[in-house]
Amino acid sequence: MTENVFKLAQDQFEIVAEKMELEQHIREALKEPELCVEVSLPIDMDSGVTKVFKGYRSQHNHFLGPTKGGIRFHPNVTGEEVKALAMWMTWKCALLGLPYGGGKGGIAVDPKKLSRHELQHLSRAYIRAIYKILGPEIDIPAPDVNTNAEIMGWMLDEYEKLCGKHAPGVITGKPLCLGGSLGRETATSLGGWFCLEEALKNIKCKGKTVAVQGYGNAGYYITKYLQENGFKVLAVSDSKGGIYNKNGLPSSEKILEHKRNTTSVIGMKNSENITNEELLELDVDILVPAALENAITKKNADNIKAKIILELANGPTTLEADKILFEKGSVVLPDILANAGGVTVSYFEWVQNLSGYYWTEDEVHSKLSQRMKSSFMEVWKIKSQFNCDMREAAYRKAILAVAKAFKARR
Ligand code: NAD
Repeated sequence: MTENVFKLAQDQFEIVAEKMELEQHIREALKEPELCVEVSLPIDMDSGVTKVFKGYRSQHNHFLGPTKGGIRFHPNVTGEEVKALAMWMTWKCALLGLPYGGGKGGIAVDPKKLSRHELQHLSRAYIRAIYKILGPEIDIPAPDVNTNAEIMGWMLDEYEKLCGKHAPGVITGKPLCLGGSLGRETATSLGGWFCLEEALKNIKCKGKTVAVQGYGNAGYYITKYLQENGFKVLAVSDSKGGIYNKNGLPSSEKILEHKRNTTSVIGMKNSENITNEELLELDVDILVPAALENAITKKNADNIKAKIILELANGPTTLEADKILFEKGSVVLPDILANAGGVTVSYFEWVQNLSGYYWTEDEVHSKLSQRMKSSFMEVWKIKSQFNCDMREAAYRKAILAVAKAFKARR
């Protein structure tokens, strides 16, 4: 699944850097992360056995500010994957005008196989192993796949114990009572919705049907926003498979309740089970990949019927697939734009932590809306200027901002 994902990130960068005639030394500096550490985490399991897990943290660069990016718990996490995800964070932060470089971390683990007690031990052990390279002015983690506010709370607590001081700005996506921001949990999808709203003002799209791959934080909330705004979500899925109803699925909350009771969306009333492969190729107007990398490849891109692809996942589309989709006239709203709502509200959280002054949910939403919509319009204009796809346009803007900071430091 995650094979070659760092190569994909490097190629995406190199292709645009070449077109922009970016100086060779800047390309060299941005092609590899500044740092990628691998740590070994021995954990005493409830059974009395000691198991050793591998953890990673990559900091792509600090040219615009401290590195920022989530922590993923998944069996397929590797050093290569976090390097790719950290590089994508660099472009995302630069594109949205956030004062950050890109970072990302993870642990190779299936958290569903751990007790709550073991999960807490592992989360704290990870922070003990890497806390020296973290800090509100150094590197600031956040949640990603299979991590959440509760885990961020444990991690913050461990960091503060090690440093002997309060430092809420070291981690975002925390519980509200520990300095989290209102609106952080829904931010990735709400940002995606704002981006889609702008896109629909500019792109002719005949209907309002949608398929969503992945039903976690990103997938659930985008389903909710789409349904609230009159879209018909025909299919959703998770790692076990998908569900489909040609007339529209039940409400997002009902699907979530079913998933909570049974561990999967499959088997939901008033729907038929389908595979993840079938979901991606459904006859819908909008496709939302909201799971993992490499979902849309040269194998299925030709069969994708959606006019708009809203990339809430990071890296869901390969280079070959991008080309096929562009030639077919589908518009890909690229990950570094479409899912940037998460890091944008993480930035708001960090600003609130540093100033000690907390905002209302309305303030968070209106600032998020403004950032997402203006970023969409800037990318849309670059796309028209260079007659390129949205990914290239977004990369052009992001690379320019990082290169400018790189030069200003020399
Ligand atoms: P999550 O852990 O809450 O949910 C992930 C979902 O994807 C789960 O429903 C899981 O069952 C499903 N899934 C896993 N493998 C799958 C597969 N092979 N096919 C179909 N579904 C599969 O994670 P999340 O936070 O929603 O993140 C999803 C994606 O969004 C990731 O690519 C992540 O990097 C990206 N993202 C998340 C945030 C955020 O703030 N949470 C921000 C930006 C980007």
